Amino acid sequence: MNPMIIDQISLEDLDTHVRRGRLSFMTVSMETAYENQINREITRNAPVIFTWGLISMLMFIVVDYFFAPSIFNTLLLVRSSTAIPVAIASLYLLTSTDFGAKHAENIVCVNIFISALTNIPLVYSTSDRFLVFFYASVAYIVALFYAQGFMTLRFWKTMVILATGAIVYLPVLPWNIIVKANLDRDSVIHLSSLVIIMLTGITSLYRRESLQRYNFIVRKQLDDKYENLQSMAKRLEELADQDPLTCLFNRRAFARVAHEAMAMSVRNGKPFAVILCDVDFFKRYNDTYGHVAGDLVLKQVTEMMSLSMRRTVDVVARFGGEEFIMLLPDTNMIGAEVAMKALYERLALLNIEHEDSPLRRVTISSGVYVYTPGDRIDIDNINEIIQKADTALYQSKQTGRNRITFYDGDDV
Ligand code: GH3
Ligand code: MG
Ligand code: MG
Repeated sequence: MNPMIIDQISLEDLDTHVRRGRLSFMTVSMETAYENQINREITRNAPVIFTWGLISMLMFIVVDYFFAPSIFNTLLLVRSSTAIPVAIASLYLLTSTDFGAKHAENIVCVNIFISALTNIPLVYSTSDRFLVFFYASVAYIVALFYAQGFMTLRFWKTMVILATGAIVYLPVLPWNIIVKANLDRDSVIHLSSLVIIMLTGITSLYRRESLQRYNFIVRKQLDDKYENLQSMAKRLEELADQDPLTCLFNRRAFARVAHEAMAMSVRNGKPFAVILCDVDFFKRYNDTYGHVAGDLVLKQVTEMMSLSMRRTVDVVARFGGEEFIMLLPDTNMIGAEVAMKALYERLALLNIEHEDSPLRRVTISSGVYVYTPGDRIDIDNINEIIQKADTALYQSKQTGRNRITFYDGDDV
């Protein structure tokens, strides 16, 4: 199946699939995510896993001592020369390398297999094959449960280790006893206990993985929903901050951003400029050309504003109606004048016709307040600062429009 199509299968479908007890996800990407989670878990728990591995290995050594004293030395040599170095190397790989983090599950599989192989000398060097078979099987079952319980190895991988191990031990199976059905009471008890333990173990492992996969899906669904909610919340926040017509910040967002920028300037002893702009004779424009054309003009004017105030720290916002407000951090009177002249030149070049204006084109009037370090202003009262820019704007309107007025300290 095409991976794109597979990825479009809903999580609900996957959920049903897993509920049916399949130990695989329908999509490659989900299976990889699950595998990555297993690898992460193993890497995280590696020190604990290996400590327990070492403890069980030591317990086997104690049992070896009482159970097979004649070959104890050989067993000790094999266990300590093979299993322990492999365990240490694996622990290093798992905790300190990218390779280990990526292949954690396989490294642990190899580790268990090698530990189990350390029983081979025991298996092949004693005449009491039935007892050896029993002992080796117990060791194998311990390894199996250990692998599943501690390391959450996948069921089928565990089965592969089990089968490979079984092949290694096959030659020592007490065939003569089994085939001839010549079983005494003890052998029957031993064999049937082994079969029961194995079957119970295997079915519970299967069930465990099935549940674990189900939990994985539920978790994934929750994560996806949470991510969706987060991006929706982010979008809503953006919308709440944005003016829909011009896509500029609205007044609410301006107040927030401006407050931070101004406080920073005051703290750093830097000047900043706040500018209010208003489109001249805009009511007449709407009356002459219509509201839709008026909207277009507002968009064009704001584009020119954004082009002229181009530093990332500059804030341009719609203050309401055909009024706009700008905040230019780290800007003195000269800087503000340069930026505003650039804006006026752009509007002049744009030359939007306005036949009902004495100026014959769309123009704007502006009022600028420049904070210079030392000015005594109340940074928490943004309205007071806007008021100063508005006073200057009023003067621009009074003195013929299409001009920039700097606030000179005389409140009118
Ligand atoms: P002045 O030069 O003194 O500023 O005159 P003016 O006509 O621009 O000012 P006035 O406050 O009388 O009118 C503002 C007009 O702006 C009235 C209103 O219809 C228009 N306006 C406000 N918001 C919008 C908008 O979003 N789109 C359009 N097309 N017009 C708008
Ligand atoms: Mg106005
Ligand atoms: Mg106006």
